[in-house]
Amino acid sequence: MPKRPNWQTTCEGFVCKVCWNNFSATDAAMKPRVVPQCGHSYCLGCLEEIAKRSGTQPPTTRCPFCQRSTDILPENFAINYSLLDVMNSMNEVKDRQRPAKTKKGEGILVQCFENQNHEADLYCTSCKEGYCEKCYMRAHEKSRVMQQHRAVKMSDKPEVIPMCPNHPNREASFQCIVPRCLWKVGCSECRKLHHKDHEVVNLLRQIKTSSAEMKECHKLLQEKKKTLTSHLDDITKSLKSFDSSDTISHHEQLITEQFGQNEDEPTLKKYRIFVFYEKKQLECQKKDISFQIRQIEILEKKLLKKWLQKVNFQEPELILEARKNLRKEIEKRKVFYKLEEYIFDPDMSDRPYRPIQPKSVY
Ligand SMILES: [Zn+2]
Ligand SMILES: [Zn+2]
Ligand SMILES: [Zn+2]
Ligand SMILES: [Zn+2]
Ligand SMILES: [Zn+2]
Ligand SMILES: [Zn+2]
Repeated sequence: MPKRPNWQTTCEGFVCKVCWNNFSATDAAMKPRVVPQCGHSYCLGCLEEIAKRSGTQPPTTRCPFCQRSTDILPENFAINYSLLDVMNSMNEVKDRQRPAKTKKGEGILVQCFENQNHEADLYCTSCKEGYCEKCYMRAHEKSRVMQQHRAVKMSDKPEVIPMCPNHPNREASFQCIVPRCLWKVGCSECRKLHHKDHEVVNLLRQIKTSSAEMKECHKLLQEKKKTLTSHLDDITKSLKSFDSSDTISHHEQLITEQFGQNEDEPTLKKYRIFVFYEKKQLECQKKDISFQIRQIEILEKKLLKKWLQKVNFQEPELILEARKNLRKEIEKRKVFYKLEEYIFDPDMSDRPYRPIQPKSVY
């Protein structure tokens, strides 16, 4: 069984174990800095916060992992360039292995452990990895031990619980919701040590709530997409009817009958302008609806991908984005009609209008 470094199973990339944000080569505060006393790396932002809170003069920085301290200021800690190099080459490998499809935005939700071009539909509870069915069979039939492994559907993968930043061998049990608190999560021992009088919430419950919320948002987005798709369908039919010479010549004939051959010209002109602008407007709306659908598809995919990772700790941004999208409501009833369904009066004193809409004055 090939071993993967621990970071990959817990997070997409390298994170600072204090703030749980990804290290970055470009953001100064998020560059990894090496604690000179021990060699552990954290982001500059967190190290400076630790130094500031030490209350000593000069400030001391205590490594959260091994507790060794130094009075060298974090801004003078060396940048962990080798970590940045590894991050960089990991990204390059990822880009290369990414199938062409992914670039168009239709890629894989969870990569198969054996081949990153496969979609993983199974999760092995022993390997703690995702596999496509074929690769799961191939990887697990080889040895008796592997045959004992149990696979579940990817969607049934258990939630991943982050480790305590201060006790990396222990699972975190709570999330601290005090904004000025340095540690986002902690174990029972940390409760007295770092979170005295802080309001904390049960981490597992928090993860489950956030996971359920993501799933709920995904479902609601799917429903919204369905309505929008039916609107798109209606608007396409409506546009087609504006190209049909049958209805148009029928309307024009009615106008001519109303005004007589010699007097019909101004009204016919009025009618043709109506057709022209109504069509233009519909084309704009069609573009807008297609755009909205595309946006929902991207969001839906992001949510599903994130949800399937089951690292649903600290994911409110994606949920907020989904809720924001869902707040923009759309009409559920039919809003686009074919030209022949418009209320049309040959004297054209009113602009032809859609059945459910109030008359708009020309
Ligand atoms: Zn940090
Ligand atoms: Zn250390
Ligand atoms: Zn396995
Ligand atoms: Zn596979
Ligand atoms: Zn702890
Ligand atoms: Zn706290």
